[in-house]
Amino acid sequence: MIKPFAVFTLSAFALACTSALAATGTYQGKALGHNAEVEVAVTLDNDKITNVQILKNFETPAVSELPKKVIPQMIVDNQSLKVDRISGATFSSMAILNAVKDALKKAGVDPQKYMQGSRIAYKVSVPTKTDSDVVVVGGGGAGLSAAVAAARKGAKVVLIEKMSFLGGNTVLAGGALNASDPALEAKQKMSAGQRKMVEDLLKEEPKNEQQAKLLASLKKQWDEAIKKDPDILFDCPELHALQTYKAGDYVADLALIDKLSKLAPATVERLDKMGLKWNDFSSQYVGAIWPRCHDAANYTSGQGYIDTFRHTIEKEKLPVTILLQTKADELIKKDGRVVGVKATGPNGEKVTLNAKKGVIMTSGGFGANVEMRQKFDKLWGGKLGKNIGTTNSRAITGEGILMAEKAGAGLVDMGYIQLLPVTDPEN
Ligand SMILES: Cc1cc2nc3c(=O)[nH]c(=O)nc-3n(C[C@H](O)[C@H](O)[C@H](O)COP(=O)(O)OP(=O)(O)OC[C@H]3O[C@@H](n4cnc5c(N)ncnc54)[C@H](O)[C@@H]3O)c2cc1C
Repeated sequence: MIKPFAVFTLSAFALACTSALAATGTYQGKALGHNAEVEVAVTLDNDKITNVQILKNFETPAVSELPKKVIPQMIVDNQSLKVDRISGATFSSMAILNAVKDALKKAGVDPQKYMQGSRIAYKVSVPTKTDSDVVVVGGGGAGLSAAVAAARKGAKVVLIEKMSFLGGNTVLAGGALNASDPALEAKQKMSAGQRKMVEDLLKEEPKNEQQAKLLASLKKQWDEAIKKDPDILFDCPELHALQTYKAGDYVADLALIDKLSKLAPATVERLDKMGLKWNDFSSQYVGAIWPRCHDAANYTSGQGYIDTFRHTIEKEKLPVTILLQTKADELIKKDGRVVGVKATGPNGEKVTLNAKKGVIMTSGGFGANVEMRQKFDKLWGGKLGKNIGTTNSRAITGEGILMAEKAGAGLVDMGYIQLLPVTDPEN
């Protein structure tokens, strides 16, 4: 009966001692982030937090970049844990704050001590007016690619992104890029099934002139390749185009598919020149029809596309100004032309972005907008309500599409919404 009482007394004494004595030293703590545990080291000098270092984290790089950079510094500068989460990176921000709390507890310091005073928000400021040649709306793969292309041609570019990080869905993507690449694919053997696929395609009755042209070109290349070596995996842009057309039930615009499949190999080459290194083999991702997927060797997932464009802007000192946390609201029209964008900045301020030469809309799709999904869906019979999760970034809400429509753009093929239930929308 006496022993438990003694133990209780001792631990109460230890607690009293640790909270009374100021801690000095470096302590580690961890907390669950979005993808896995985040580990930090917190250095204390008489209870003063002098350093917060992130030791281990597996958060999505682009998303967690800003919290990793600014939250430790905000904690040290303000001696406070009452730091606002970075919008769009809530889990990663929370994980850092909770890991610091854990480290403090291990140091015997009560984290509540750092929860006093007013909340501290991360503030960026953007100009309320800009004048440029080109304004790009949306900082995913398409937006950054457009910004680099325009700037390389001498245009002064302003790119706005509503989130606190660049990347959009592109950064969350698996990263596989489909492009026919005969030299790379020749490392693989062609199976009997693959041979039959091409032969069946060649037997199709063309539905239009463009398909007839593509089929004729495919037949010529196929006959030559089979004669040379029937065992080597065959590919060409025409096969890519015709397979894509067929897989989309022949409803897509074949002229656009043709362009996509002809330009894809050049895109692979262009990215390679910018520093994205490709695996020396091609693969076939789920949903793909042919092993023509290219994957980055020096990056995981779609991160490589975003980083490659960012590095190119820096390396080549391209005139691209990136404004984060700046959301496009409306396109400005004058004399029948779109000449700029009205936007809202990080602190709710109104921003006007004038564009002498043009506005490029690259604000992505609408997978995370339930209302738009339900409105436009033609395939799923009204079943795309909020009980259907999405792996899209929560930023992918389609307002750019509606903005463009309001300015007079026509919308096509909005109803063909692809579901690919292979990953968990929760994580
Ligand atoms: C989980 C997942 C895996 C995928 N895997 C693959 C794959 O392996 N291969 C493949 O080819 N495709 C894949 N995809 C599809 C691919 O990611 C997209 O087709 C592609 O990234 C779209 O690029 P984007 O630049 O058009 O749009 P996004 O990359 O989505 O960029 C749009 C940007 O616009 C911003 N924005 C939106 N509205 C506004 C506004 N009002 N103001 C300012 N900014 C705004 C958004 O925040 C976002 O950053 C995948 C998609 C997902 C979700």
